[in-house]
Amino acid sequence: MNLADDVDVLVIGAGPAGALAAAYARRQGLSVRVLERQQFPRFSIGESLLPACMNLLAEAGMVEAVEQFGFQYKNGAQIARGERHVDFEFADKTTDGYSHTFEVTRADFDQLLIREAEKQGAEVHFLEEITAVDFSAQPRVFSQDVQRRKTEHRARFVVDASGFGRVLPRLLDLDAPSDFPVRAALFTHVEDHISDPAYDRNKIRVGIHPQNRQVWYWLIPFSHGRASIGVVASDEFLRLNGADADKRLWEMINQEPGMKRLLGDARQLFPAREIRGYAAKVHRLHGKGFALLGNAGEFLDPVFSSGVTIAMKSAQLAMKLVGRQLAGETIDWDAEYAKPLMLGIDTFRGYVETWYEGGLQDVMFSSVQPPRLRAMMCSVLAGYAWDAQNPYVGHSGRRLRTLAQLVRANGTAAVF
Ligand SMILES: Cc1cc2nc3c(=O)[nH]c(=O)nc-3n(C[C@H](O)[C@H](O)[C@H](O)COP(=O)(O)OP(=O)(O)OC[C@H]3O[C@@H](n4cnc5c(N)ncnc54)[C@H](O)[C@@H]3O)c2cc1C
Repeated sequence: MNLADDVDVLVIGAGPAGALAAAYARRQGLSVRVLERQQFPRFSIGESLLPACMNLLAEAGMVEAVEQFGFQYKNGAQIARGERHVDFEFADKTTDGYSHTFEVTRADFDQLLIREAEKQGAEVHFLEEITAVDFSAQPRVFSQDVQRRKTEHRARFVVDASGFGRVLPRLLDLDAPSDFPVRAALFTHVEDHISDPAYDRNKIRVGIHPQNRQVWYWLIPFSHGRASIGVVASDEFLRLNGADADKRLWEMINQEPGMKRLLGDARQLFPAREIRGYAAKVHRLHGKGFALLGNAGEFLDPVFSSGVTIAMKSAQLAMKLVGRQLAGETIDWDAEYAKPLMLGIDTFRGYVETWYEGGLQDVMFSSVQPPRLRAMMCSVLAGYAWDAQNPYVGHSGRRLRTLAQLVRANGTAAVF
């Protein structure tokens, strides 16, 4: 077993949470090692960013690199049901900060961010998989490379940014049952060949299935005429059309008139892939010598594209505390990390729950929406889910359910 040099911070995983954690640590003068089990660039799902990410990227010194890469510009979201659609413009938001962002091929985006962290002095090792940890005294992390050579790493603090790899939740038995039912996503990339002049490439399009409002579709345009397309539904629903993933995906796409029309000339770029049961939760987000970031902590649902924003926000909150702790301060991780992070996660939870219940869809499609209400919703849809000034932040579910009941009972005009 090799023994690596000691570091201040050891980061597990080089996705967005890991790359930003590394940069935030370096900007406080801490030594950082990132261990990533895959070779980059590598495919990842999660391609539609929210504007709130841009503020976090700016704080990590990475926003210029992202702006200059040539990713597809994004300024809002379009929600489509049957012949109707509502467009949310991020510029209408109430919270200060960026009102644009990008749709990104994650292979490029994640590679860019970790290279930026490296430029800031983070030590990054690919093809090093974490296999064991020991937090009984000084944190120790054990990795293995592709030749099965083992290395022991000693650090003053460990952050788990391993995403769906869920390294510390597995090794330390931190997993808790998710609040959400098991759903699945089928997806691929296409050369989209969309010729409809009314189609707005600057927005993600979220389409709702005409008969089953719990089923929805994403159309995420990339630059260079490509797009990511996918459908999310219960496992049973997605399996109605047999075993062949490509056939099932296109059968589903053809059931939503807007997707069918827009993608009539699309050319598929790789066989459809499927992910199921991705919702995840933990008993606690921290412990002696470690914190869980991004998807290694909680993952709700992809419908509002909140995953990368939550991953980056968790890195920002945690690394400030790590810096202070390593400088000798005693930190109350519950009060200063878990609670503030959960404010935004619970905000999105309320949106996700009421989306699948149907109430949020009714509110979004109600015929009259006062500009103030729409602006507050836009703020959350733009990722500003930690803005406590916004009444639709925090326990948003209660508020959205009340609004939905009023819309259903009275018709919109009477409600507002
Ligand atoms: C169907 C679907 C659609 C989605 N769409 C969106 C979207 O449009 N927008 C959005 O913001 N989010 C979306 N998400 C969520 C998004 O994919 C994640 O929230 C985001 O990637 C989390 O970032 P992360 O840095 O926490 O983890 P990841 O990006 O998963 O990075 C974790 C890294 O850790 C590495 N790793 C894992 N195990 C180990 C180990 N043992 N040792 C070393 N390294 C390890 C992995 O190889 C990986 O590179 C979607 C999710 C799903 C399931």
